[in-house]
Amino acid sequence: MPSNRNISQPGGKVNTLILGAGITGLSCAYHLGKDYLVLEKESKAGGLCRSVKTGGFTFDYSGHLLHLHSDYAKKFIFSFLGKNIVKIERNSRIYSKEVLTRYPFQANLYGLPPDVIQECISGLLEAKRSAKKTEAVSRHVNRHGTFRDWVLKTFGRGFAKHFFFPYNTKLWTVSPERLTTDWINIFIPQPDVKDVIDGAFREQDKTFGYNASFYYPEKGGIQALIDSLSGKISNIRMNSPVTSINLKERFAITGDRKIYFKHLVSTIPLPELLGIIENLPEKVRSAGKMLSWNSVDCVNVGVKMKNLKEGIHWIYYPEKTFPFYRTGFYHNFTRYSVPSGTGSMYVETAYQPGSKPEKNMLLNKTLSGLVKSRVIDKKDKVIESQVLSIPYAYVIYDKNRSKALETINAFLKNSHIRSIGRYGAWKYSYIEESILDAKAAAENILKQ
Ligand SMILES: Cc1cc2nc3c(=O)[nH]c(=O)nc-3n(C[C@H](O)[C@H](O)[C@H](O)COP(=O)(O)OP(=O)(O)OC[C@H]3O[C@@H](n4cnc5c(N)ncnc54)[C@H](O)[C@@H]3O)c2cc1C
Repeated sequence: MPSNRNISQPGGKVNTLILGAGITGLSCAYHLGKDYLVLEKESKAGGLCRSVKTGGFTFDYSGHLLHLHSDYAKKFIFSFLGKNIVKIERNSRIYSKEVLTRYPFQANLYGLPPDVIQECISGLLEAKRSAKKTEAVSRHVNRHGTFRDWVLKTFGRGFAKHFFFPYNTKLWTVSPERLTTDWINIFIPQPDVKDVIDGAFREQDKTFGYNASFYYPEKGGIQALIDSLSGKISNIRMNSPVTSINLKERFAITGDRKIYFKHLVSTIPLPELLGIIENLPEKVRSAGKMLSWNSVDCVNVGVKMKNLKEGIHWIYYPEKTFPFYRTGFYHNFTRYSVPSGTGSMYVETAYQPGSKPEKNMLLNKTLSGLVKSRVIDKKDKVIESQVLSIPYAYVIYDKNRSKALETINAFLKNSHIRSIGRYGAWKYSYIEESILDAKAAAENILKQ
């Protein structure tokens, strides 16, 4: 239970108090322009958009690439990065059955063993036939169905077996039956049958998905964006975790200070926010307990290597033999991320909160998986390695999520708290959406 005993210092009064200096908190402050205070618990701004520089390598908390669709977000990012930005045409792959195929799996079976291709295509045709019979439209997302049922209806048994089920079980750390379909819209490309068949016979040059091209800072990792943006934010306090919020008197506590606010914008993970609100109604507390998420350990590796996997940006790993679900190559985003003659990569392993893998075991399994999939060679010299932990990584879209959010959001609205961003709004979203959600929240406050 949060408590405000031993608070000796009056901390002052602000119009808008912003919790968290990740991209969402910073964007909110920027769009407010004045009369705000940002409180950040860490010593450095950026949240998941921080980068770490070590031994000549620049690592992110797994590659944070800029997928930009709105003109406003592009203008916003370009204004902060200036010339320090590169546009990249995506070249991503899937490693399974000892071959690298193009992304997405469902449009690029070419190169896989014939029995896998046969199972996928015949499963797809069977699914289409039964969809016609039941008059279900495969493109239609059935909001009440499970992800498992949707995959079987949309892609059929073969694709489910060889990619969707094992990959998504590894990524989300829960079974496909537990997931809903509320998150899939932009994240899973749905090619036509013709594209699937074309991609089974030859290498497709057609691209699919929301991230066919992306941007990245040429120098300094994703932190370059944060450094430039936070230079415009005047009122920000680091090393200032907020430990309690009193909604009756509208103040927050950080250290030994009370800070009174009119508007509160929170970008910290929703379960953390609910945990620091004094006298939280029991109904809301119970709803908070229904939220699920996973955690990710990002292993960053710098290697002296000959085969740099030139041109490939990231690889998905559906197979169980690999503990990680994805690896990406910083040196193929920009050569400035590594010293010459070296390559660097991030390798992402997901787990349920509380089941954090032991560090040395994770490092060993990661390196042996990279060797096994021929990303690095046994003889390559690993010169940097580190594990960056992301305790809140993916919000789990199970059947409890939307019900719990109804109760929580009604309470937050009533209490005039804006909880925004990937973890504040409790959703699967990316940097662009964070920037835009924060802009909308700021504009809303300015109107009042
Ligand atoms: C593995 C992974 C890969 C991703 N890759 C991409 C990508 O390539 N491209 C992309 O666009 N998006 C990507 N994302 C999503 C992206 O990271 C998020 O959308 C975005 O960074 C969220 O920013 P935020 O500010 O909302 O949250 P955060 O970055 O989590 O910021 C919240 C801030 O609040 C602070 N905080 C927490 N508690 C307190 C407290 N009590 N008091 C004060 N401060 C507190 C934290 O320290 C943090 O700085 C990825 C996410 C993950 C997990």
